[in-house]
Amino acid sequence: MYLLSSMNTITNQTSAKPVQRRIGIIGGGLAGFMMYVVLRFRGVPAADIAVFSTSTHPAEEWLSFVRPINQRHMRSESAAHFFPTDSPGLATVELFTKHSIKPLLMSWFDLYHPTVETILQHINALVEQTGYASSLVLGKISRIERYSHTVHIYDSNDQLQGVVDHLVLAVGHGKISIPPVIADYQQSHPNTTSVQHSFFHTQEYTAGTTVMILGNGLTAATEWANALAADAKVIAVCPMSFTMEQPLNTPRRYFSLRGIFPYRHQAARDRLRELAAAKRGTFPPYRHWKKMFAEAQSNGQLRIIEGVLESIEDTAAANLRGIIRLTDKQAVTAATADTIIAATGFAAPTTNPLLNTIITQYNLPLVGPCLALEDDYTIAALSYPDSLVGVIGSAADWAIPCADSFGGIKIVAHTLANRIVGEESWHPQALFTLFQRWLTIIRGKQLV
Ligand SMILES: Cc1cc2nc3c(=O)[nH]c(=O)nc-3n(C[C@H](O)[C@H](O)[C@H](O)COP(=O)(O)OP(=O)(O)OC[C@H]3O[C@@H](n4cnc5c(N)ncnc54)[C@H](O)[C@@H]3O)c2cc1C
Repeated sequence: MYLLSSMNTITNQTSAKPVQRRIGIIGGGLAGFMMYVVLRFRGVPAADIAVFSTSTHPAEEWLSFVRPINQRHMRSESAAHFFPTDSPGLATVELFTKHSIKPLLMSWFDLYHPTVETILQHINALVEQTGYASSLVLGKISRIERYSHTVHIYDSNDQLQGVVDHLVLAVGHGKISIPPVIADYQQSHPNTTSVQHSFFHTQEYTAGTTVMILGNGLTAATEWANALAADAKVIAVCPMSFTMEQPLNTPRRYFSLRGIFPYRHQAARDRLRELAAAKRGTFPPYRHWKKMFAEAQSNGQLRIIEGVLESIEDTAAANLRGIIRLTDKQAVTAATADTIIAATGFAAPTTNPLLNTIITQYNLPLVGPCLALEDDYTIAALSYPDSLVGVIGSAADWAIPCADSFGGIKIVAHTLANRIVGEESWHPQALFTLFQRWLTIIRGKQLV
């Protein structure tokens, strides 16, 4: 529904009989796609990889979240892209494709944020160049079975869909997090469009109305901006104060091994505490947002309440009265709104149904809500030297706090590729081959 016309349609294959491949990836979202691109770059033929997915395009699932909140620009910067190498960044690509130096200049000061369209065109090109469609096996996977040298993959009819030597789980986020107060109201008002999660809210805001927005992350801030731009009033509710000064979704240090190293080398309890702090909701200090939010606060169009929405009542005037327990827990306050939006993101990645099934079936260790992965992103209990099971995407957060970002998934994809196909060689011939593959990709040619 939210797909762009610029998103190419992929003709996939549905498997009549189980496919037998060297590498299987379950989940064809952006993390699965990054894994695929890196493996192709490292010389693995498309015919050796199967991507088992319910999505026909890598950006399909992601766009289903981006479109309802009307996000136009990426939070991430020039370096966050799907080329298998760090260079060139998207600002450099725009220099050549749009003949404009502005993105490059802005990227020197971390001020360049590609548009969603730019990212989509970039992904579309790589889908074509890497032969992604030929590896795609459409369908929902409901369980796996670990054998001594292979992993068997079953669909929701318990039909065997694939047998693979190595498996990468790229199943995406946990369930959408709907606070109980929102779920209760929706249950008692099944036809309501006034109380919704942001990822399901598609109506435009109306001038003169009031919207209550729960949450403290990028989605919440995007909804504030949408509502204020439409001349609606905003009541922002969040248990903790809003942190605006963080450009990326986790602090920048987690995007390098030097930054991840101290995080990993501490007691599990301290690591868990650091992970929670790293992943807390924040939003970037865009200049136009700072100005908009400051002005709206001073003229009363934006009111920020630190607290938790406890209940929602219908009023005689046909709007909603939210009862909010203030964070100090000493008092409650009431606020009236026409619409209530929960910009509350996702539950823990381990609530993903397939991941949850695998965790239960193999009794995999958890630390708090996290799957206790090895630092090389493999699941020790399911891996053998010649047959690994790895994880990429938000479920890898125990090993890398920025797991749910383009930068994070690229780090994970390279590490898993090293484990699966071996470390990159420094032999001149190997480097030359890799350089040729890089040139092929950068020049937009077909990777063989
Ligand atoms: C609104 C929003 C904005 C964002 N902006 C940025 C940004 O600016 N920069 C940035 O770096 N990151 C951003 N992110 C983070 C981004 O979501 C992640 O980096 C990335 O999309 C996660 O990809 P994924 O493949 O793990 O998950 P998804 O994209 O959700 O894909 C998961 C895939 O797995 C498939 N799947 C799941 N279970 C099964 C199953 N059982 N069988 C078969 N297939 C299955 C799904 O169909 C889907 O195709 C943003 C996220 C959101 C929600």
